[in-house]
Amino acid sequence: MHFRSTHAKLPLVSYKEAALNCLPFDDGLYVPDQAADFKQFFLHMNEKTSFNELVAAVAPSLLEGGVNPVSASNVAKSAYNFSPELIKLDDNISLLNLYNGPTGVFKDYGIAFMSAMMEEFMKDGRKAMILAAARPDTGVSMAHAFRGRKGVSLVLLYPSGQLRGLDSSSFVQNGGNIIPIQIRGTFDDCQRLVMETLKDREFTERYNVTSANTMNPGRLFPQVFYYLYAFIQLKSSLSGDLIFSVPCGNFGNLIAGLYAWKFGMPVNGFISAMNANSSMGEYFLGKPFIPKPLVFTNSPALDVSFPINYDRLVSFYDEAPAVMRNMVFPASVSDEQTLAAMEQVYKKYGIYIDPHAAVAYAAAQKISGERKWGAHSHTVILATGHPARSANLVEKATGKEIEIPEFLKELWKKCDPIALIHPQLDAFESAIVSCF
Ligand SMILES: *Cc1c(COP(=O)(O)O)cnc(C)c1O
Repeated sequence: MHFRSTHAKLPLVSYKEAALNCLPFDDGLYVPDQAADFKQFFLHMNEKTSFNELVAAVAPSLLEGGVNPVSASNVAKSAYNFSPELIKLDDNISLLNLYNGPTGVFKDYGIAFMSAMMEEFMKDGRKAMILAAARPDTGVSMAHAFRGRKGVSLVLLYPSGQLRGLDSSSFVQNGGNIIPIQIRGTFDDCQRLVMETLKDREFTERYNVTSANTMNPGRLFPQVFYYLYAFIQLKSSLSGDLIFSVPCGNFGNLIAGLYAWKFGMPVNGFISAMNANSSMGEYFLGKPFIPKPLVFTNSPALDVSFPINYDRLVSFYDEAPAVMRNMVFPASVSDEQTLAAMEQVYKKYGIYIDPHAAVAYAAAQKISGERKWGAHSHTVILATGHPARSANLVEKATGKEIEIPEFLKELWKKCDPIALIHPQLDAFESAIVSCF
């Protein structure tokens, strides 16, 4: 598969180049130039196919053009020791559990594949620096995936506040490859410093820098695997429309689903589930996108006012606006409705869901009431976070105290960065120069 910038038709780059450079020179984002075709795979796969078998089969065609098939199958083998689980609630609704990974969030899926792929790319003897703006949860996911990967170091830029969940034995001064640095500032300052660094071509070439945030197609595209997995699990029992309901923050997850569709997965619609931060909803209905000020809600991973993947969404809509309006259905869910959905799913099915999955569940109820998809339609709710990560809210919604698994307790342990700096490129370079 080859990639181009959202701003220009040329030049085309391979998956490998897109992942290693992360951003095109013209300030766009990388998108596939031509769709891959995954249809052939569906014929031979069914509910007995494991996630790892699916990834091993599909990864070579995703990576084609930059990676030989042997390397692609190495990547597939080393990426995942965890797998999604499709839980059928009833004939019309399933949960796709995507929180089975090492840090309890669906982001583990994109990051794990990217880290395995970067290690494979660096087998030519080069070294790469992966630079990423980190929130406490995403930082942990990235540190976990990149830890011990050969040829790559991971620099995490954290905003002010307590760091948690990192294991100092993986830090660079202890012989590891993880470099947590704290910025005097906010998450936006971290993001700005990442962008400034990536756009400084001299700097990126000197240190061979790329990013593990979702602007990197190397992290975004592996997310199509779990949509395909849900589809092959369901395909023999489907007799009506198939809908995915996706909780949306930076819209990477929804875009991965749209690509799964573009690459040949039969699907009838996507629900873009948002909390009060729902400005993109207007855009999906054909109006201009006007970002509104950020609102803090009880589904914090969806608290985004300007999504990083905006340009990628626009590239979909520019191609076929009328088709897209019949494919993506936006819904906005309040904090009260989120809690009510958590309660309802527990009472009806005996299952705990986190607030992000609850937004997707409540949004699906709203939209299917309006759209009339028919008695045989099936909706897959993407459960993106482990419910125990939001134990307080689960308790508030269901009245039940839930057990916190040991691995999540580890993620709450306090830790310290290796440096504290102002958000400026020269300060950043002095902090990392001794690490490389
Ligand atoms: C990051 C995150 C989301 C939002 O995903 P996007 O790809 O940014 O839209 C949803 N749920 C959870 C639990 C998350 O951590």
